[in-house]
Amino acid sequence: MSAPDSPFGGFAIDFGALGDAAPIAAAPVGPAAEGVAAAADGPLETSLLILGSGPAGLTAAIYAARADLAPIVLAGYQPGGQLTITSEVENYPGFPDGIQGPELMLRFRQQAERFGTRIFDVEADRVDFSSRPFRAWAGGVEYRAQAVIVATGASAIWLGLASEERLRGHGVSACATCDGFFFRDKAVAVVGGGDTALEEALYLTRFASKVHLLHRRDEFRASRIMQARAESHPRIEIHRGVTVDEVLGEETVTGVRLRDVATGATRDLPVDGFFVAIGHRPNTAPFEGWLAKDDKGYLVVEHETYSRVEGVFIAGDVHDHRYRQAVTAAGDGCRAAIDAERWLEEHGVVEAATATAR
Ligand code: NAP
Repeated sequence: MSAPDSPFGGFAIDFGALGDAAPIAAAPVGPAAEGVAAAADGPLETSLLILGSGPAGLTAAIYAARADLAPIVLAGYQPGGQLTITSEVENYPGFPDGIQGPELMLRFRQQAERFGTRIFDVEADRVDFSSRPFRAWAGGVEYRAQAVIVATGASAIWLGLASEERLRGHGVSACATCDGFFFRDKAVAVVGGGDTALEEALYLTRFASKVHLLHRRDEFRASRIMQARAESHPRIEIHRGVTVDEVLGEETVTGVRLRDVATGATRDLPVDGFFVAIGHRPNTAPFEGWLAKDDKGYLVVEHETYSRVEGVFIAGDVHDHRYRQAVTAAGDGCRAAIDAERWLEEHGVVEAATATAR
């Protein structure tokens, strides 16, 4: 079962154990790739620091590393990003039979490392973008860079119930891929009406004897194909027009208390697991006061991938609440790396290596 203090349910992938791609250029200095900090050595310097290791961050790293920028990636508390808690990815081009999210992100990482990217599994908790070199701190270690790409993605949102928090890791999860296995032949509930909720519900049918899908409205936000799959699945029961008042259970989940939105009536639904899939929040905390946010809290891109701070670029879900796909995030990471490279070249830090139209 997952750790209670992780927003995603504590799922962790040991990339270090699986990966066999040692850096071939720009030999690591300072912390080891596992993220062990060597603060005594002083700040770690690079021309390009990339914050985040989802499709945006790692694609930026691939491009930047191939452009000889020897980037450093601070991978964050969830290396690989949201795809590491996704099951089958069927819409990433190049994989006609689909690929598991964690496997896809492992490949991204290996590809970035192959060209000399240094990746540290630490989370940037503070930045100073007031002057160059820009500075970021993670686990007490200071990193300095002439340019930064912010690709910190977004995290799962919880309902905010006290019972949900208390039972997190004890039957409450935001990650079917991580925790679905624990509910073999049991009944579970999934709350949400978007693609994530339906994907989670469908995934859980691999294990659970019954999956209750709880949505507060009549209409789903999810794509038609996902709706059709959920509606026709014999083990998924859809409950429309209900909200969750409480997660029931002392030590572990025993049920959820549902409220009928139209009548206000409540009823208890016995389940052993409760999966929250109601959307995501952009990971912007370290950039408070430095980068602009829109009314939904996502970072604002001024033009192309440029932020309002010269030399700081933005890519992926941390600013994109419209598309939010692995492939769009990857494309964004590529754009940010090219923009950063060009900007560094214009500021005399590096020579251009990537040829693109101006
Ligand atoms: P989403 O589309 O924003 O859907 C969130 C759902 O949660 C909505 O149905 C919303 O209800 C419900 N919700 C929000 N707050 C709630 C609360 N407090 N209580 C109960 N229900 C609540 O989020 P998402 O499903 O994570 O998807 C985000 C984006 O990623 C979408 O663009 C989606 O298409 C994409 N995505 C794509 C794939 C794929 O292509 N394979 C997979 C997953 C996600 P209302 O509808 O009433 O607002």
